[in-house]
Amino acid sequence: MKRSLARTNAYDDGTGMWPLPEADLREHGFRFTIADVRPTRDVRPAAVAGLFYPAEPEALRARIAHCLNASGPYGSDGAARPPKMVIVPHAGYEYSGAVAAHAYARLSGRRDPVKRVVLIGPAHRAALRAMALPGVDAFETPLGQVPLDQAATADLDGLAQVRRDDLPHAGEHSLEVQLPFLQEVLDEFTLVPIVAGEARPAEVAQVLVRLWGGDETCIVVSSDLSHYLPHVRAQLVDRATAQQILEFDARLDPQQACGATPINGALLAARDHGLVPRLLDLRDSGQITGDLRRVVGYGAFAFDPP
Ligand SMILES: [Zn+2]
Repeated sequence: MKRSLARTNAYDDGTGMWPLPEADLREHGFRFTIADVRPTRDVRPAAVAGLFYPAEPEALRARIAHCLNASGPYGSDGAARPPKMVIVPHAGYEYSGAVAAHAYARLSGRRDPVKRVVLIGPAHRAALRAMALPGVDAFETPLGQVPLDQAATADLDGLAQVRRDDLPHAGEHSLEVQLPFLQEVLDEFTLVPIVAGEARPAEVAQVLVRLWGGDETCIVVSSDLSHYLPHVRAQLVDRATAQQILEFDARLDPQQACGATPINGALLAARDHGLVPRLLDLRDSGQITGDLRRVVGYGAFAFDPP
């Protein structure tokens, strides 16, 4: 009689669990290989597919292609290297997808070098001190799984401002909505996903600097801009915020951008590395929906290598 092997060296003969040494298990006809006891890959499933973006792969690809096409010919700016860092919005694709596409089109034109994405966004659903890395092996979207860079995440475990916690990642959309875009514009890549709660800009910058790397590493910062202001007021506020970002002024507050914490840290790191910032697109939801009374601001920025 064969039974499936539990992860402990034990089997149930109907009278209780009896621990057996591995050799005895083999003698009793159990197949015993490493594969039998290795846990299956732990995956964070998509949480907002069908809400923020289409859940059906073909519809999702079509939506992304539409957004990218609307942003102009890929790579037409003449830059030879991919942007080292981008800031992109994270609303539903029908609202901010076209704005985010301006940054992703820049990556698409020079996709070859990028093998790793450091993706950082704010925690919307969990009160979080400092920053959380997930414990899983991969993130999944309707377009497939993205493996995590385990060596890089392990390297961050020694930092006091980083902890392992799957909970802040579970329902968080600010990272997830960026993944289908990245899966479409890049070839194979690994991911370092970071949800940021309360943290000082220097603490965020320290994490990003540790992961900095070369052209193989792209940093994606996920943030919307102002929230629920009338359109005219939002335009003024968001323009001022964009100017602050272009000047590496790392004093954004959460009223200006829900991702103020990751942006501020990223600005410090970008300034120290001499990156060259560009504003690619700046709009708000009122210009997309026609409802100008209460809008959310969206900006796309690229930071090119010096
Ligand atoms: Zn947000």
